[in-house]
Amino acid sequence: MAAASYCTLTARIAISCSATTTAAASSSSSSSRPLRVAVVGGGPAGASAAEALASAGARTFLLERSPAGAKPCGGAIPLCMLDEFAIPRDLVDRRVTRMRVVSPSNLAADFSRALPPGAHIPMLRREVLDAFLRRRAAGAGAQLVPGLVTSLSLPAGPADPYLVHYISSSADAAGRGVLEVDAVVGADGANSRVAREVGAGDYTTAIAFQERIRLPDAAMAYYDDLAEMYVGGDVSPDFYGWVFPKCDHVAVGTGTVAAKPEIKRLQSGIRARAAPKIAGGRVVKVEAHPIPEHPRPRRVVGRVALVGDAAGYVTRCSGEGIYFAAKSGRLCGQAMAEEWARTGAVTEAGLRRGYLRRWDDEFLLMFRFLDLLQRVFYGGNAGREALVEMCADEYVQRRTFESYLYKRMVPGEPWGDLRLLWRTVASMVRCGVIGREVEHLRRLELQLQAYRQENACARSRL
Ligand SMILES: Cc1cc2nc3c(=O)[nH]c(=O)nc-3n(C[C@H](O)[C@H](O)[C@H](O)COP(=O)(O)OP(=O)(O)OC[C@H]3O[C@@H](n4cnc5c(N)ncnc54)[C@H](O)[C@@H]3O)c2cc1C
Repeated sequence: MAAASYCTLTARIAISCSATTTAAASSSSSSSRPLRVAVVGGGPAGASAAEALASAGARTFLLERSPAGAKPCGGAIPLCMLDEFAIPRDLVDRRVTRMRVVSPSNLAADFSRALPPGAHIPMLRREVLDAFLRRRAAGAGAQLVPGLVTSLSLPAGPADPYLVHYISSSADAAGRGVLEVDAVVGADGANSRVAREVGAGDYTTAIAFQERIRLPDAAMAYYDDLAEMYVGGDVSPDFYGWVFPKCDHVAVGTGTVAAKPEIKRLQSGIRARAAPKIAGGRVVKVEAHPIPEHPRPRRVVGRVALVGDAAGYVTRCSGEGIYFAAKSGRLCGQAMAEEWARTGAVTEAGLRRGYLRRWDDEFLLMFRFLDLLQRVFYGGNAGREALVEMCADEYVQRRTFESYLYKRMVPGEPWGDLRLLWRTVASMVRCGVIGREVEHLRRLELQLQAYRQENACARSRL
């Protein structure tokens, strides 16, 4: 489908663009015509936004600079994403049922005892997942535009349109193009051009580096349903290294904020730690990409909304962003379409209410919680040893799976939580992590308690 339909669609857009560029000052707010939205970036965030918008009847343009490319990524997604985003099971390369966390001193905790029956961590190749999500957006009516967005012309007034300038990479309609739209979704990742154009502000990024390594059959069989995470100053001063199984290779990588210039040394570190298991492997691809560390200062500016990595929705502790990208894209697309249907316009206030507030209500606390965990446990080797020691606890595993696989911050069992708190403190004291970090943990527990109380009140009001 991809190449042929990209060409026809681009030709159609080129015709509509030549007509619209001359009418750039015309009103963009009208209830008698469909909402027009440019979604910049065709990763999980953009494709999900485009699908939501097109399904709601918006005229949606989905611009992607490299439709045949593959985003550098580990490709692990939470199980709930398969159902929530109706992802066909045959797109999944591997079903990980064993997760091993390895400490600086090479002690290992196996995360499998508490895995619910039938549960697993799906592993996908991003080229496969992204192409599928874009095709589905097109099926819902979005127009796929292969092209690099170069700039935005901002509207002079609230009823004026945005102009999206791009360079088409379609074989039969190459050249510059302009789209006139009522609103823009910036889903163009960590180096977001859209964020820059609207002055959304900067964020700190980590750099993640990854090698795809094809292993001999016996070595690959070892990783059949196993994913490994290595922690230690030798693999990353502030993150972890990983070996994730894919269809015919393993992805071996690491990330860091604190030591970006040393990323290659850290990659050697993870390869050395996993050496006996990946011996005889052949590197077939080397890739690197920034990962945002926290949300951007402004995620909505005028009628432009940022989603996914462009907005900064990646958890610091785990580097997870695929689910949050798809979820924020969908939420944002729905919010835009709902406001247009109700009022005949899209506004900054409406996007704040319909998209940002709903997002923050659902995920802000989870992100803060994972931030704290990262600060407490990844700060030094003693903390990392304590982390691995705690990971062996069945209750910890159960809570971790609940929150990762199903994205639920479920109320804990009072005795389990108390035991966990004691175990945590004991592990940390044993490993020499005391003082400020324990204080962090205490605050974290208080935040969680407040969150549970709020949730209980909200439920009782329903
Ligand atoms: C090495 C690595 C490993 C990771 N592993 C995992 C993991 O295992 N699990 C997980 O959940 N997350 C992981 N992440 C994070 C995850 O990859 C991101 O959070 C996720 O891809 C965000 O999706 P997105 O749609 O917001 O952005 P992206 O996936 O980055 O998509 C942005 C899209 O926009 C396009 N684009 C950019 N600029 C323009 C432009 N000017 N014009 C047109 N198109 C443009 C790009 O080509 C790209 O397709 C990892 C990240 C890295 C770097």
